[in-house]
Amino acid sequence: MKLLHSTHPQFTLHTNGAGHPERPDRLTAVTAGVRAVPKIEVVEVEAPLLDPAVLENVHTPAYVRAIEDLCASGGGRLDPDTSAVPESWEAALRAAGAGLDASSRLRAKEASAAFLSVRPPGHHALASQAMGFCLFNNIAVTAATLLAEGERVAIVDWDVHHGNGTQAMFYDRPELLYLSLHQFPAYPGTGWLDELGEGESRGTNVNLPFPPGTAGDVYRAAMDLIVSILSQFKADWVLVSAGYDAHSADPLADLHLVESDYGEMALAVAATAPAGRLIYYLEGGYDLAALEGSVAATILGTSGMPTPGDPHSSPDVAWLILEQVSQALASEFEL
Ligand SMILES: [Zn+2]
Repeated sequence: MKLLHSTHPQFTLHTNGAGHPERPDRLTAVTAGVRAVPKIEVVEVEAPLLDPAVLENVHTPAYVRAIEDLCASGGGRLDPDTSAVPESWEAALRAAGAGLDASSRLRAKEASAAFLSVRPPGHHALASQAMGFCLFNNIAVTAATLLAEGERVAIVDWDVHHGNGTQAMFYDRPELLYLSLHQFPAYPGTGWLDELGEGESRGTNVNLPFPPGTAGDVYRAAMDLIVSILSQFKADWVLVSAGYDAHSADPLADLHLVESDYGEMALAVAATAPAGRLIYYLEGGYDLAALEGSVAATILGTSGMPTPGDPHSSPDVAWLILEQVSQALASEFEL
């Protein structure tokens, strides 16, 4: 398999301050994970700068200007968890630009899938608000452009936190399917299973909100449901908000995934995505060893190879939630 790997040195210059978990070292671990998989040809590309006007497909012009002005004036805090420094403006434009560049390169058959090692992450960013370490919603920028080109887009978000920004941006768009597996209750507080989309879009927003302690046995079972929904939606592109903070070693959350669970999820998603139309966007994940191993498992799974290793066991309540999700979706999909 040929894998496009998009990153840039500028991503290590964006910081949230000393001691913050969303730190430059994460990219070293992720990049090591991408390159660790044997028999994968990695095509390295630099994430290009995005024209800031393209951000306005998903963000308000006033918000884009406010981030640019904040960075130009030395940076500062945007919410209790999220900051910008002068270097963040260029980093954020490259993080948002990586996906569009990757989609062009995949169309040109330069590779069969893409992994974007980018910072800052994106899935919490709202149209006019930075949140949860995110400035611009990277995956949404790509998705909005693909939708404008008439493509159907599915976003699978396996970061442990609900992608509230992505959900909000496409909640009324029937040609975009948003599927999120996350811990609930947890930051940012959204993502219950009755948030199914609005009007014509009902059924194209799918949340799987799992209780603390949920492990890979339930996640693997949930992939059967997700694959079934993806197959029925018939997306032209599958984009993945690939966060790794559901790993048992992660300091920010309470789920119990292991490396091979990410491998199995990637194997299932890659088998369902149309050929050459799969892009992973780095979101969270704050334990460096878990990040490296889980990214490597993701790449292995994407290449069609299983990752050795058994899942941990979930509490009964996690299985109950999976059953409830299935029931909530029974009127929208054949499950
Ligand atoms: Zn997260």
